[in-house]
Amino acid sequence: MAKKDLRFNTLLVHGAGFKDQYYSANVPIYQTSTFAFENADYGAKCFSGEIDGYIYTRLGNPTISALENTVAALEGGYGGIATSSGMGAVTTIYMALLEKGAHIISTDAVYGPSRGVMEEHFSRFGVESTYIDTSDINKIKSSIRKNTKLLFIETPANPTMSITDLEKCFEIAKENNIIMVVDNTFSSPYLQNPIKYGTDVVFHSMTKFLNGHADVVGGIIVAKEKVIYDKLRVMMINMGCNFDPHQSYLVLRGIKTLAIRIERAQENAIKIAQYLENHPKIEWVKYPGLKSHPQYELAKKQMRGFGTMISFELKGGYEAGKILMNNVKVALLAVSLGGVETLIQHPASMTHSKIPKESRIKAGITDGLVRYSVGIEDVNDLIEDLDQALSKI
Ligand SMILES: *Cc1c(COP(=O)(O)O)cnc(C)c1O
Repeated sequence: MAKKDLRFNTLLVHGAGFKDQYYSANVPIYQTSTFAFENADYGAKCFSGEIDGYIYTRLGNPTISALENTVAALEGGYGGIATSSGMGAVTTIYMALLEKGAHIISTDAVYGPSRGVMEEHFSRFGVESTYIDTSDINKIKSSIRKNTKLLFIETPANPTMSITDLEKCFEIAKENNIIMVVDNTFSSPYLQNPIKYGTDVVFHSMTKFLNGHADVVGGIIVAKEKVIYDKLRVMMINMGCNFDPHQSYLVLRGIKTLAIRIERAQENAIKIAQYLENHPKIEWVKYPGLKSHPQYELAKKQMRGFGTMISFELKGGYEAGKILMNNVKVALLAVSLGGVETLIQHPASMTHSKIPKESRIKAGITDGLVRYSVGIEDVNDLIEDLDQALSKI
């Protein structure tokens, strides 16, 4: 039985069929920059592509390939391309699939730097971009231009937690000959597989759920078909934003527990979301697993679970946010997400403090907004921690 045919949870543990001459139980770290050829003929065949041999680690390496094949299988795609970071994946996608005069439509609440690099740098090369609430399908339709080449979706998006309908998006993309890309970082392949709905390219910041232990920065792209895969791989190699063997080993290790980590964190997340929703000092809570979430039904349809990210608004605004940050003792005051440890963040006083208040609020980053990434700790400790910190406000 090809490993590809295995069920998701088995694939997580066994990976996509790595084998070496020793039948190593675990994928070894091939800590080498280059690979010697047996003879000139063999070298020539590696370069011509006749033999699928390794040449140089920026182009490919057995440990990195094992990771790429595993994530490609988890997403149901043709092939994977590991990158130095999630942003390495974003820039590789932009560089490979856009050209001078092209136009991209993107989710307005997309990861900040995914928008920043487009508006500040790709614009210098004549690429146009439009940012809209992609959870409104009609807004996508009306934003399409003759030169639209990419539809770039993030769902659930952050910090609004709004959800975009992947199936409907792909219908529109296909009709208009547009390549559809999904940033699947917030869900991981465990909760959502965009390729199942047609999506052409999926990518992750592996820094988050895939690795899951807050000790690696990395990214990965999975393409549905060979044509786009080849373009992306060549671009990654030429830009030099490759991943490395040692970190590939760490991510492969993290992936083995992806399902049980997310299951536990999700159990915690729904309890915490409900606790927060009933707290008098909290204005609103955004979590796709709450019935109050406007796209609760859509989340239920296209995701296997509701994830581990919660946004909430403190009634006390900016000051309340700072008090909460200064009083939590279990959750770590840190950006990032998707790890075994719970993280808390107050964008107005932390990540977004340099943005003028007016534009910050326009982008939905209100004064009392708190972002909470739920880990796998005992939920009672997390709730007690929030409870004592909220009581200080
Ligand atoms: C973190 C993140 C990225 C960027 O990933 P890095 O590994 O930090 O470069 C992109 N998209 C989303 C949704 C993220 O959370």
